[in-house]
Amino acid sequence: MTTSDPLLTFSQAKARLLDQVPKKLATSIIGISDALHKITAKDIISPMDVPSFNNSAMDGYAVRLSEIKTQQPLSVAGTIYAGQQTLPYWPKNSCLRIMTGAPVPDEADAVVMQEQTQQNSNRITFLQPIKPQQNIRYIGEDIKKGEIVVNSGQKLTIPHIARLAALGISEIEVYHPLKVALFSTGDELREIGDSLSAGKIFDINRLTLKLMLQQLGCQVIDLGIVADDPSQIEQTFTDAMQADMIITTGGVSVGEADFTKQVLEKIGKVQFWKIAMKPGKPFTYGRLNNAIYCGLPGNPISAMVTFYQLVQPLILLLSGLTDIQSTFPQFQVKTLSAINKKPGRVDFQRGNLIADKHGELNVTVATHQGSHITQSLNHTNCFVVLEQERGKVAAGEYVTVELFNPLLS
Ligand code: AMP
Ligand code: MG
Repeated sequence: MTTSDPLLTFSQAKARLLDQVPKKLATSIIGISDALHKITAKDIISPMDVPSFNNSAMDGYAVRLSEIKTQQPLSVAGTIYAGQQTLPYWPKNSCLRIMTGAPVPDEADAVVMQEQTQQNSNRITFLQPIKPQQNIRYIGEDIKKGEIVVNSGQKLTIPHIARLAALGISEIEVYHPLKVALFSTGDELREIGDSLSAGKIFDINRLTLKLMLQQLGCQVIDLGIVADDPSQIEQTFTDAMQADMIITTGGVSVGEADFTKQVLEKIGKVQFWKIAMKPGKPFTYGRLNNAIYCGLPGNPISAMVTFYQLVQPLILLLSGLTDIQSTFPQFQVKTLSAINKKPGRVDFQRGNLIADKHGELNVTVATHQGSHITQSLNHTNCFVVLEQERGKVAAGEYVTVELFNPLLS
């Protein structure tokens, strides 16, 4: 691998990261209230029908349609409340007052909402045509017994958990978190909170990456700041090998103190280095024993963008998620800004998707796109993804946009 080799394209690199059968993680059974954002290790099968009994969708009156055709108004023979177990006696030519969620008697073939009736003492007139089955929620309409409610390999959202709650499922089997070891490299780096001497800077990346990893549900092994010293880097790599994945920042470029990649070449394997993307060209991918290695560039924006665009999908795959592509939806909108770009690399500019006064979406790009300018991620809400061969973009042209997910918002 030399510097004159053509760069891998972004899509080739991403495909290589994702082209593997992930090692199965251990699983455990956890309570449903701890399950948010965990990944299911098994299909979850419904043990029952939901609703489990026919019930009313409205506050109103349960009726037998045949009676309404022949006789109106009808007298009210009784009331059914939500949660009621014994239904009232229902004589012929009458209706029953019923509340939302209350069990509907088998003989009722519709519920008429209160607002479509007129009540005169105890007698009800129905003001509008009534459709058979209206306002009745039937057994199994939402979930059928035996149906898969949540597939294996699914990241659990609150709506998934609502469905499991409807079934009374209190425990589920999920994958253990992926173990990720993380360290930053650079003689110039100092811990946040320490004092800075001349030429030193605070270590931004280890914190941002740790937070992003935690958002993805990973267990982070924080190995601190490592000096630009091959033997210290080698020692830290050795400590990191216990993890499923190792992430480093800095030291993967072509500078004289960029030792991370060199050390990996010695004790592990570099699978590829450098990608035709901006920011993030020096991204490095490899292996160290059983651990997968991702080396991110040191510039904070490059580190965050490569993490987001490449490491995030890889982590989702290794964590057991089955559908990774649909978690990064892209769409086309017009740009209001003219955008500077040279052909040769995919550019992940940071932009703002905004609706104009007609509700039409447009995007503007942040003025400062430098990979050291943290401001560019602060006032933006999306990536503007400019294709590798694309050059300058004029205002009014369509561009591809990808809204930030919670890792960046
Ligand atoms: P490198 O990739 O090591 O050549 O670093 C590129 C640039 O990013 C240099 O200006 C570094 O000082 C800076 N940098 C590297 N690591 C970090 C970090 N963890 N936090 C903030 N800036 C960093
Ligand atoms: Mg460095």
